[in-house]
Parts: sequence; structure tokens; C-alpha cells
Amino acid sequence: MTLAVQHGALSDIGLHRKTNEDSYVVEPPLFAVCDGMGGAQAGEVASSMAATTLATAVADGRPLAEAAAAANTAVYEHAAGSDERAGMGTTLTAFVLEADRARFAHIGDSRAYLLRGGELRQLSDDHSLVAEMVRDGRLTAEEAAVHPHRSILSRALGTEPRASIDAFVVDLLPDDVVLLCSDGLSGVVPEDGIRKMLGRPDPRDAAQRLIREARKQGGPDNITAVVVRFSAAAAEPPRDEPETTSVAPGADEVTAELPPVVDGTDATAGLADRSETAESRTSSAPSAAGVATLARDHRRGLVALVVVLVVLVAVAAAGAVVLSTVFFIGVDDGRLAVFSGLPVELGPIKLHAVYRRSSRAYASLSVTERTTVDARGLRGKAEVMSLSDSLGMWP
Ligand code: CA
Repeated sequence: MTLAVQHGALSDIGLHRKTNEDSYVVEPPLFAVCDGMGGAQAGEVASSMAATTLATAVADGRPLAEAAAAANTAVYEHAAGSDERAGMGTTLTAFVLEADRARFAHIGDSRAYLLRGGELRQLSDDHSLVAEMVRDGRLTAEEAAVHPHRSILSRALGTEPRASIDAFVVDLLPDDVVLLCSDGLSGVVPEDGIRKMLGRPDPRDAAQRLIREARKQGGPDNITAVVVRFSAAAAEPPRDEPETTSVAPGADEVTAELPPVVDGTDATAGLADRSETAESRTSSAPSAAGVATLARDHRRGLVALVVVLVVLVAVAAAGAVVLSTVFFIGVDDGRLAVFSGLPVELGPIKLHAVYRRSSRAYASLSVTERTTVDARGLRGKAEVMSLSDSLGMWP
């Protein structure tokens, strides 16, 4: 039996990143998600290069595994061309529909899920350090979900001359739904939420809701969802099926193509563009009338002022205690350093200070070591010093 597909795909920058390093491919029968990594735009380049190379190779009739290997070579060779690009890489989770089977290629921590009969199943294994610790029984899934190093990959595309890419085949049934997504979605929206939204009959609606939910949960990372719903081929495809989207790495472009679903009060979440978001924020500011009422009641105003001052002093005291007891490893002027405090900058105010400087340059770190440093995970003093030892910071 040959299955027909309907699909919806979206990528969103999220609420905290300056760039979108995710890319996706929707060129039936090929679907893919790539989540790039590496500083100075290297992540964006890696994911879009992998997506483009994969799509071109599959369009040329090459088997998926071969196309994924070609994508690895393309990224690896590009990265080898310059020091700045050293360490660039990407995840890749892709499938090609072959009649009623999906043939997958997968590396990294983007995910493939299958919704069948109302149940959600994760098809891919995460290639991350914490996922491996879970598989070895050294960590529970709950611990892994909040682990500070959950973004460190154990395998990625483009970081080695030959990548070890998982290959598997899934037999599909009518009404199955497959989701490919980056960790900005799977790491943020609980599986039960994914299950519910994936059950929406229109895959474009499902993709929009998934993105909106990830933003509602804080949108800490780029968010990408490719939703594919399968049906028996005899059914007429819906007339309003959109044109097939080719490789589309940019969120803006996609947002323009698929305007936000506006339902109820949820105007700032989802895919509203920046000007709309700004308007909503302005309109939700406290009204002038409310402020005036407070000013009229002097006594109440005075009490409120004292309460605010007491709270501020308490927060500052607690903050000072926290800042002096937590540490992380970061980079100061190109060299590694142990910092005390939180890896946070509020404009010109930094919530950390150099605790101890190392002479080891960040540029001399291996890819794995860089990922560890880039995570800027918080640690106690003993733990941070032992990590700094293992990074060779004190020769
Ligand atoms: Ca990501």
C-alpha cells in the first residue's frame, strides 16, 4: 500500500537566541530536521549545509544513508577549512517515505516521534552524554531532563570524517503521525503535550501549536517541528495543501508563510511578529488610572514602599550568598577561567566575577571540551575545581 502525506513544518528562533541554527527539509518523500552547533554562525551554516546536501543527494536518487554520509562529509570538510569553524556540527534526523515504510537516518539529539492510536513513541535514541548515562542506568530520565549538560552531544554530523549514523525502518499505518523536532521543542514541551497537539487533524495546525507551546514554556532555544500525517493513498489530497516547501532555515520566512493561529487571549505567544508582540506588551502595562489610585492613598503607599525595600534587601542578601557559593567555567579574554556567580549578564551588570584565571586558551580545547565549557553549567566549588583539573587548566 502506498500512503499519502499531509505535512506542516515550522521553525522559530525562540525567545532567547539571536540566531536560528535549526534547518528543516520538506521535500516529499524526504523530511528532515537539523540543529546546528558551533559559535560565530557556524551552527547555522552547519545545519543548512547538511539540509541542502541531504536534499540534493536524495533528489539525485541516492539512498538516504548515502545522502546523510554526504552531508557529513560536506560539513566536516567545510569545518576543516578554517580554525573559526572548528567544532561546527549539526544533528540530523530524517526519513524518506517508501510506499508504506519510513526509512530513517539519525544522529544527535533531535528526535523522531510516532503517534499511533493515541500513543506517542520516541523512535530515535538521543546521542547525548546524559541519554547515554540513562541507557547505562547511571541517571534517571527525570535527572537527565534537568541535567546542566543535557545539551552535550555524544555524536554529531560533521565533527568526524566518518559519522556513525543510526539507520532504521518503521512500517507505517494510515493515520500515523510522525514528528521530527529539535531539542528546543522536545526538551521544553512535555511528551503528553506533544501527544495531544500531534493528534490535531491538520499537521500545519499541529506544528503551529507545538511551536507556540514551546514559546509559552520559555522558548530557551530554537524550535523546529516537522509534522507528517499519513493516510491511505486512495483519499483525495486536500485542495488547500500548500506548495511543497524546500529547505527553509529561516523562521521569519516560515512565519510569513504560515500566519499565527489567533485564538483567545494568547496574543504574545506563538508566531506573532515583533511589532505585534511589542503592541501586546504595551497594552498589558499597568494603567495610569491604577497608578493614580495608589498615589492617592498615602498611608498605603508608604507601607508598600517599606515592604518593597525589605524585599529588595532580602533579595540582595540572598543573591550575594548564592553568587558566592556557585561557580562555573567560562572564558575571559580568550582564556579559561573559573567564575563565581551566575553565568548571566543583565545589560552592563554581570552576576559573576573571575575567581581564578587559567593560562589555557579556549581555542586549544577539543570539541567535546568546548561543549562542556560552552554549557557554563553551575557547580559547587569542589566540583568546579575538579572539572577545571580535568580540562587541564592548571598545568
Ligand atoms: Ca537546539
